Amino acid sequence: HNHIDHATPEKVQAAIVAQDTHAQLPDYEPYQSYMNTGGYEALLSLRAGGDWGAVQEQLLEAGLRGFGGAGFPSGKKWGFVRANPGPRYLAVNGDEGEPGTFKDRWYLERTPHLFLEGMLIAAWAVEAEKVFLYMRDEYPAVLEILRREIAALENAGVIAPGYVDLRRGAGAYICGEESAMIESIEGKRGLPRHRPPYVAQVGVFGRPTLVHNIETLHWIARICREGPQVLNATEKNGRKGLRSYSVSGRVAEPGMYVLPAGSTITDITAAAGGMAEGHVFKAYQPGGPSSGLLPASMNDLPLDFDTLQPHGSFIGSAAVVVLSEHDSARAAALNMLRFFEDESCGQCTPCRVGCEKAVKLMQEDRWDQGLLEELSTAMVDASICGLGQAAPNPIRLVMKHFPDEI
Ligand code: SF4
Repeated sequence: HNHIDHATPEKVQAAIVAQDTHAQLPDYEPYQSYMNTGGYEALLSLRAGGDWGAVQEQLLEAGLRGFGGAGFPSGKKWGFVRANPGPRYLAVNGDEGEPGTFKDRWYLERTPHLFLEGMLIAAWAVEAEKVFLYMRDEYPAVLEILRREIAALENAGVIAPGYVDLRRGAGAYICGEESAMIESIEGKRGLPRHRPPYVAQVGVFGRPTLVHNIETLHWIARICREGPQVLNATEKNGRKGLRSYSVSGRVAEPGMYVLPAGSTITDITAAAGGMAEGHVFKAYQPGGPSSGLLPASMNDLPLDFDTLQPHGSFIGSAAVVVLSEHDSARAAALNMLRFFEDESCGQCTPCRVGCEKAVKLMQEDRWDQGLLEELSTAMVDASICGLGQAAPNPIRLVMKHFPDEI
């Protein structure tokens, strides 16, 4: 291991830069092509005298809700942030770490400027003094694209040099939680904060901060360019809008599928080419491990915000993983809890100790259901953030829907 012993910070930095520079860049739409199709016209005309309240109305009319997972109405956030005196900041959450989620990457590797224009529109709307763009470091191609295209915007005079501060995450799942992300941006350990105060009041460096996810900003640009109907014209199973489902697991063609928000797992699997050969549909993870597992019999639920709550699940960032008869629901749930155990930031006992205890109990031949239920209640009631509060979902759903396996 000599080469490791002799590594200096400079060498490590050089190796990281070399790795990024050699990232295979996909065939994406660069600045000039975007400009040729009316790019940045929406932003520039808003800056020249637009009314932020009118844009907010459009977002509300479109029914746009945050696509990071929480699903809060995006337009309302603008109002909350603006209600606090400046200087204000915009922090973009690009820490796409939810297992099975790759939609933000999909958008950034194809149409980075739709995202960037949406970002600058949101920054304009809350009069942000600066933008912190927190990007997952496991996406070297995306980082390189963003570096190039932000430089193109600076060269073209669309933004002042340094206005957008591209920050690299270091692989901690918890830094996707908005207040932990803000701590990380400030150079500290990514520990979620207690709320209140909310980040709209006390965010990055104590300033009112608007936090948006990458995909949300993509849609903000599209709403400004194409009107609210780009989202609200689609209707299915009583739900309006579109969702970007990251689909993986036992399907024939895993990938990112933009489908109506009212789509069921049956529709989503069909869009992904049906089940993989030799596999029979058994269960699915609707939105990341925090959403747990639902059985194949629940194949008629619209996979949208709110519809899964009564079933002890939620859609989150729409990371759909399809399981077949070859898979064990029990093993999948254990895998999810191991993930939470690894990724718990450790600052609160119900989550830190609870995840560890749950993993131990789930490794037993027979699950002690009474104890697991009691543990789940303590974790849901007493954890500081969503990680610990949602970690019991896989346990409870497997106890409810796959009792034969435990
Ligand atoms: Fe950290 Fe878990 Fe507590 Fe969240 S719930 S603050 S991840 S220990």
